[in-house]
Amino acid sequence: MRTHFRVVVIGGGVVGVSTLYHLTKKGWTDVALLERTELTAGSTWHAAGLLPLFNMSYTVGQLHKYSVDLYKRLPQETGQDVSFHVTGNLRLATCKERMDEYQKYCGTANTIGVPFEVITPAQVKELWPLAEIGGSADTPAIVGALYHPDDGHIAPADLTMALRKGARSAGAEIYEQTEVLGFERTSTGEWKIRTSKGDITAEHIVCATGNYARQTGRMLGLNVPAIPVEHQYIVYDESPELKAYRQAGGRELAVLRESDKSYYLREERMGWILGPYEKGAPARFADGVPDWFGRSLFPGDLERLLPHVEAAQRRVPSLENCGIKDIVNGPISYTPDGSPLIGPAWNLPNVWLNEGHSFGITAAGGSGWQLAEWIVEGEPGIDMLAVDPRRYGDYTSKRYVVKKNEETYRNVFVIHFPDEERPDGRPAKTSPVYDKIDRMGAVWGQRYGWERANWFAPPGVERKDQWSFRRTNYFEHVGNECRRMREHVGVIDLTPFTKHEVTGPGAEAWLDGLVANKVPTKIGRIALCHALTRRGGIRSEFTITKIADQHFYVVSAGAAERYDADYLRAALPKDGSVAMRNITTSRGCFVVAGPKSRDLLAKLTDAPLDNDSFPWLTSQTIEVGLAVDVYALRVNFVGALGWELHFPIEYAHHLFDALFEVGKQYGIGMVGMRAMESLRMEKSYRMWGSDMTPDYTPFEAGLDRFVRLKKGAFIGKEALEKQLASGVPNKFVTLEVHGVTDADPLGNEPLFDRSGKIIGRATSGYYGHCLRKSLAIGYAKAEFAAVGTELEIEILGERKKATVVQESPYDPDNKDLRA
Ligand SMILES: Cc1cc2nc3c(=O)[nH]c(=O)nc-3n(C[C@H](O)[C@H](O)[C@H](O)COP(=O)(O)OP(=O)(O)OC[C@H]3O[C@@H](n4cnc5c(N)ncnc54)[C@H](O)[C@@H]3O)c2cc1C
Repeated sequence: MRTHFRVVVIGGGVVGVSTLYHLTKKGWTDVALLERTELTAGSTWHAAGLLPLFNMSYTVGQLHKYSVDLYKRLPQETGQDVSFHVTGNLRLATCKERMDEYQKYCGTANTIGVPFEVITPAQVKELWPLAEIGGSADTPAIVGALYHPDDGHIAPADLTMALRKGARSAGAEIYEQTEVLGFERTSTGEWKIRTSKGDITAEHIVCATGNYARQTGRMLGLNVPAIPVEHQYIVYDESPELKAYRQAGGRELAVLRESDKSYYLREERMGWILGPYEKGAPARFADGVPDWFGRSLFPGDLERLLPHVEAAQRRVPSLENCGIKDIVNGPISYTPDGSPLIGPAWNLPNVWLNEGHSFGITAAGGSGWQLAEWIVEGEPGIDMLAVDPRRYGDYTSKRYVVKKNEETYRNVFVIHFPDEERPDGRPAKTSPVYDKIDRMGAVWGQRYGWERANWFAPPGVERKDQWSFRRTNYFEHVGNECRRMREHVGVIDLTPFTKHEVTGPGAEAWLDGLVANKVPTKIGRIALCHALTRRGGIRSEFTITKIADQHFYVVSAGAAERYDADYLRAALPKDGSVAMRNITTSRGCFVVAGPKSRDLLAKLTDAPLDNDSFPWLTSQTIEVGLAVDVYALRVNFVGALGWELHFPIEYAHHLFDALFEVGKQYGIGMVGMRAMESLRMEKSYRMWGSDMTPDYTPFEAGLDRFVRLKKGAFIGKEALEKQLASGVPNKFVTLEVHGVTDADPLGNEPLFDRSGKIIGRATSGYYGHCLRKSLAIGYAKAEFAAVGTELEIEILGERKKATVVQESPYDPDNKDLRA
């Protein structure tokens, strides 16, 4: 065994082997893979081999598409057959909301180029003659279906072997029966890997250990939020009806998914494989995989399977005539949101994760492709935020992950409403004034473990969402909150914001080198700053305030806490000239905004708040009521006169009570996240993670005024200069959408030109309650971005006319903000 490699991949499942294969494709051939027993011994050997292209995530959808394309060409490239049956994939709908879900998905599929068809019940019958269209209480009628002609199923072990062959022929080494037992950092900054066969040193390590992810993580001091859940499928004997159909010349049937009954069905040797996502499937191995498990399976649990078996028998009656040959019940890795963990680990240099795969056969190709790119190039080629391991934080306790993973598993087939908020593992992280806000009628949602009020139910209104793809029960109440903010004064609790304190003699120069804008040089100034990728894409957004000499307050999205903290920490100068502290939970934040906000705050502070004394985009450290050391920032995300009060957390109750006591005379009220979404859409404010991503540069995002090419060097500058020279391909647009009566754009809708060609995508959308207009923001090819251009947008399968309008359709001159 060689003892030094550039990269060592740990884990010989399909995901690890694909990562190895793709590293060699990127030209890194000094690479090895270590497997504790033999290749495919983890979950890979018993997977059902389905390759669903369907995925609501823009990122995961692209990874799956890459995989399916790769698997088709692998046999020719490697000489190893992979048994890819391109049968197509049929997802049935038996209700209108399910069709809405499919139509919403079609928007994403269109923007990433996945072929699909929406078909009628009669076409379902043609494609799948053994299925009943239904029409009874037990077997609801099929109302339509989504058909992917390009996917199907594959033999997972053969696929792994083909990838292995490809990797080895390029020079990669694979060591089986070699278990990794521990890690150490060497004095030269490499990783020493202790294995059952001796030590190996490597520059980079990739963990692709499937069900063992938590154990591997623990060896590195990482709490990896991947815990497997039991997953079963039934293998049936031969079906006489299927055999007769095939012998009569029928082609292999498409993989059938009856989403509303939560199961899939596919052919297997003239019989069937039936796989449900059941209620009550338990999480396993939260403390690690026991030694005895090895290649074992769990005993089958027929009782849990039964409701799905019965539903399948009603839809495909001939199933009743088949005997059950086997039940396969194995561990399937899950994460709280169901997406894998692909990318850098946090706090550790050159440690990479490719873990937490629940559709690992499907995602292996794409995840290996992007992770290899990330390792070799330093950055992935597509926006990977949705799968970045740092989208989670310290809050992923074992019990939280167990609850969430079990919930995610049983919800695989539920309708993924855009406003869905799942209840398990909540409330976990709350603002100090949670109870007070709760008593005001809050209807809660959760993000990054934090409870956030989405909207407020007035007295007598049920505090419950009726989730929908369309306007629904909270529409009117959200509208009232918007109007309160624009006409009186509203409070939003944004305590979850990520907050860092950066101090020291080198602080200013260091921050300036990380972002495209000029970091404020005067005490009390605020600058909106973007950290870019080397390719010039938008990585992070920071609101940077100069609090005092050598003292900056850096605020970013609540969900970016670990993502940003990890980035900043890794970039800190080694000479001690800059100190950084994460103070997210030691300061709270209330947004107090609206035309009456100045009058209200004036009653609680002696600091003069007039425009001369306290202009827009400045900050002061003031006293408010009894609270001291309050950073008052005259900025907000709703486009109103107002302040963000960032206060020492111990004053949360006092400040909240004081604001509402004094605010009564000004018509004060709470405002939730959904109203904020509507208000920011009216101002064309871009949201990090959806409208600002590594896929687009600040020039494409129309953020030119936050880029200072004339200042010194900063990350991404060269890429921006190149883009300016060659032409900016896409432009940010604000769209007014016409003729919408109940389904507003919400993001990920394709934009079409007059000839029907896709020329861009909406990244967000909402109803602008104060403007009374349906609005979207997003990106269009530069030649379609001029104000007045007529486009079309597809919302839930319907084309709507959309006009490019002036940015910030509400108050374009920012008069409210400067009032
Ligand atoms: C019943 C069932 C059906 C499924 N059906 C499908 C399907 O149809 N389609 C689909 O896309 N997905 C399916 N899956 C999921 C799929 O099996 C997994 O997502 C996929 O196999 C994960 O691959 P992996 O390489 O990440 O992990 P694994 O295949 O589990 O590989 C991890 C490897 O790491 C090794 N390892 C762990 N620790 C160490 C160590 N310390 N040192 C060295 N080696 C180590 C293990 O021995 C193992 O071989 C199914 C899963 C189950 C349980």
